[in-house]
Amino acid sequence: MKPILVFLSVQDGRIKRSSLEAMTRAREVASEQGADLHAALLGSKSSELATEASNHGATTIYLLSDPVFDSHLNAPVIAGLEAVIRKSDPRLLVMASTEAVKDVLGSLSVRLDAAVLPDVASFDVAGEEVVCQRPVMAAKMLATTHSSHSLVIVSVRSGSYEATPSPVDATVETVPFVFDAADLGLTIREIVSSAGNTVDLSEARVVVAAGRGVRDEAGRDLVLELASITGAAIGASRAVVETGLFPATAQIGQTGKVVSPDLYFAVGISGAIQHVAGMANSRIIVAINKDADAPIFDVATYGIVGDCFNILPLLNAELKKALA
Ligand SMILES: Cc1cc2nc3c(=O)[nH]c(=O)nc-3n(C[C@H](O)[C@H](O)[C@H](O)COP(=O)(O)OP(=O)(O)OC[C@H]3O[C@@H](n4cnc5c(N)ncnc54)[C@H](O)[C@@H]3O)c2cc1C
Repeated sequence: MKPILVFLSVQDGRIKRSSLEAMTRAREVASEQGADLHAALLGSKSSELATEASNHGATTIYLLSDPVFDSHLNAPVIAGLEAVIRKSDPRLLVMASTEAVKDVLGSLSVRLDAAVLPDVASFDVAGEEVVCQRPVMAAKMLATTHSSHSLVIVSVRSGSYEATPSPVDATVETVPFVFDAADLGLTIREIVSSAGNTVDLSEARVVVAAGRGVRDEAGRDLVLELASITGAAIGASRAVVETGLFPATAQIGQTGKVVSPDLYFAVGISGAIQHVAGMANSRIIVAINKDADAPIFDVATYGIVGDCFNILPLLNAELKKALA
C-alpha cells in the first residue's frame, strides 16, 4: 500500500496530544498493511519537533518551516499540505479532528479530489477500503463509513486512541514552500485566550465542568478554585452557557467541544446525552450531584451524592493539602 501520511497539529510549540493519538493508530495500520508512515509538520519551529515525530514512528518527516503557518489561517495550511501530499503520495491522510483541521478539510478534499471521513472514533484499512466508525445521534450509535477512493482523508476524535511512542530512524525532508501573503484574504491581528481558561480544553488532562447545579457566581468561584488546584481546563454544560455564567467556548457536548481528559469532574450536571456525547471518552469521571438518580452517575467512575455547595469547599481544602 502507498504510505499513510499524518498531519501533526502544533500548538504552543508542541505537537498536540490528539495528533500523536491519531499517529499511533496510523502506525499500527501502516504496519499491518506494509506501508510507510510519513508525517507533515508545518510551522516556524517544525524542525524542533521532528524528533518527537520519529519517536512516534514516522520514517519520513516533511517539514515546512514558514512562519506563515503560525498565523492560524487556513489558506497556508491547505497550500502546505498540498505540497506535502505531492511528495508523499499517500493512500491515506490522517489528522486529529481539531478546530483548525475542521476548517481545512472541505477545501482540501476539493483541491485534492479526496474523499473525507470526518470526526471518526476508529479507522482501518480492509482491502481497497478505508473503513471508519463515527459516533452519531449524540454518540448513542456508531455509523460505519467507508471509501475506496484513491486518496482518503480521515480526521480522528481526540481520546479515540492512546498515544504511545515507538522510536525509529527517520529521513527529514524540508519541502520548499513559498506563500504570497497577498493571497491571504484576511489576517489575524491578535489572539486572545478566553478568560479564565489557561488550559486548552480539548487537550486537557484534567477538566472541571459545571452545570446548572452550580447556579451562580458563588458556585462558579468554587468550580474555578477546583480547576486552579488541579490545573484543569474549565468546561460547562449548555445550560450554564445559555445563562451566561460560563462562556460559549467552555461548552462540552454534541454542539460544543469533545474532550478526553484523564480526569473529568462533572459538577451539578445531570448527564443529558447531548452533554455525555462530548465527555464520555474521559478516563475517570467524578460526578457531584445532589440527585442520586441523575444519569451522570451511569457514566461516572466515582459518584458523590450531595450539594456541590457543601462538597466543593471540603474537596478543594483536601485537594489543596494533598497537592501542596
Ligand atoms: C440539539 C441539542 C444539542 C445540545 N447540545 C448540548 C451540548 O453540546 N452540551 C450540553 O451540555 N448540553 C447540550 N444540550 C442540552 C442538554 O439536553 C441538557 O439540557 C443540558 O446538558 C443540561 O445541562 P445541565 O446538566 O447543566 O442542567 P440540568 O439538566 O438542569 O441538570 C442540573 C443538575 O444539577 C443537579 N443539581 C442541582 N443543584 C445542585 C447542587 N446544589 N449540587 C449538586 N447538584 C445539583 C441536579 O440534580 C441536576 O441533575 C443540547 C440539547 C439539544 C436539544
